[in-house]
Amino acid sequence: MAKSNEQSQKGVILEGKIECPYCLRSTLIQPAADYRPIYVNCTVCGKRFIAERIQSGIEALKVEDASCFSDPDRREIEMGMGDEE
Ligand SMILES: [Zn+2]
Repeated sequence: MAKSNEQSQKGVILEGKIECPYCLRSTLIQPAADYRPIYVNCTVCGKRFIAERIQSGIEALKVEDASCFSDPDRREIEMGMGDEE
């Protein structure tokens, strides 16, 4: 009866709730498997913000407040060569 449930995929992240920095309502996001910041579209106000995984959870940033390391687009440019993991 031992059905092999290989659920041990690395970096499985469940959906999480996060507070939208614009309308302050919680919205559901699916964080990236690694600590990469991602863009999230708020399901309440429709604005786009950045969700970044931190050690204690997930942090929401307004796009205009994000540093270049938290902005998924700019980060790729800035980090293009030296990805430190
Ligand atoms: Zn919102």
